[in-house]
Amino acid sequence: VQPPHHTIMEVKRSTMDINSLSSDIQQRFDTTFIIYDNTSNTTYLRGRLLGKGGFARCYEMLNLDSNRIYAGKIISKTRIAKPHQKQKILREVQLQKNLKHRNVVEFVSYFEDDQNVYIILENCSRKSLVHVLKHRKCLTEPEVRYYLRQLVDGVDYVHSNQIIHRDLKLGNMLLNEAMDLKLADFGLATRVDYEGEKKMTVCGTPNYIAPEVLQKKGHSFEADIWAVGCITYALLVGRPPFETTTLKETYQRITQNNYTLPSSLSTSVKNLIRRCLHPEPVSRPTLQDILSDEFFTCGFLPHSLSPACCTAMPKFP
Ligand code: ADP
Repeated sequence: VQPPHHTIMEVKRSTMDINSLSSDIQQRFDTTFIIYDNTSNTTYLRGRLLGKGGFARCYEMLNLDSNRIYAGKIISKTRIAKPHQKQKILREVQLQKNLKHRNVVEFVSYFEDDQNVYIILENCSRKSLVHVLKHRKCLTEPEVRYYLRQLVDGVDYVHSNQIIHRDLKLGNMLLNEAMDLKLADFGLATRVDYEGEKKMTVCGTPNYIAPEVLQKKGHSFEADIWAVGCITYALLVGRPPFETTTLKETYQRITQNNYTLPSSLSTSVKNLIRRCLHPEPVSRPTLQDILSDEFFTCGFLPHSLSPACCTAMPKFP
């Protein structure tokens, strides 16, 4: 099958561009792997693999028109052959498309060719807090204030757009070059269509699942607050609050609200975690309550973090 005329033109033009690229870029990007976005007339070169997900492989992508680097999720059409699988990806794109906030990964473009679908996103070159915690085991309270404030800001923006994320976890908290936190992955997210609407089910398995979601009692924005509590705990302790060796036991503990707070934690953060992990959704704090909690107001909150914090414990004044 002959590609449309403009595709040939684009690839020719970009081949010319490739010859003028710096040797650094030529080494970092595969100049034989050209990806053409026919929705915006943009040509990309594929670079190094950033990570693998359930469906997608995520690569650095160089936009040859702007010379800027993005993250491109590439999903083989053979992996999403069933209509509901593609539907799910399109829903994710629809939810994320119009969101624009400094703590939410920016959506750039969605397009397809014969083999793949492509989702182009803002590049988060320092990976996720999973990677940080792997090196660090646990973080200091000032660092947790730094990450948590940005998480709460991002989630607040998402909620103000009537979207519940439903899968807040360390792997969905990405970091860009400057160590800004970016909330990612709207694969389990949902839109609340009217005030007070309760969602009954989630299509998928959220990592930090709230008891009301587990028990299918009807859930809403408060399920994300529960996850914020789990994230705070995990960052400070190095493991999730309800972790056991089996999913069944973990779910039992969540239902029984059975977790322990190490005595090494400050009183203020213990109180904040307890409030977020309240079994009754209505009794949990709002996002604004979290930011005005004593944990934030009575301790050091760094304005920026050095990238060295990804691998080594920082010293604060
Ligand atoms: P899937 O939807 O198939 O589960 P993910 O969204 O989990 O795919 O992405 C797979 C991996 O790609 C992630 O673990 C993460 O490391 C990486 N990744 C995803 N989005 C970005 C991004 N915007 N910038 C950098 N890396 C990313």
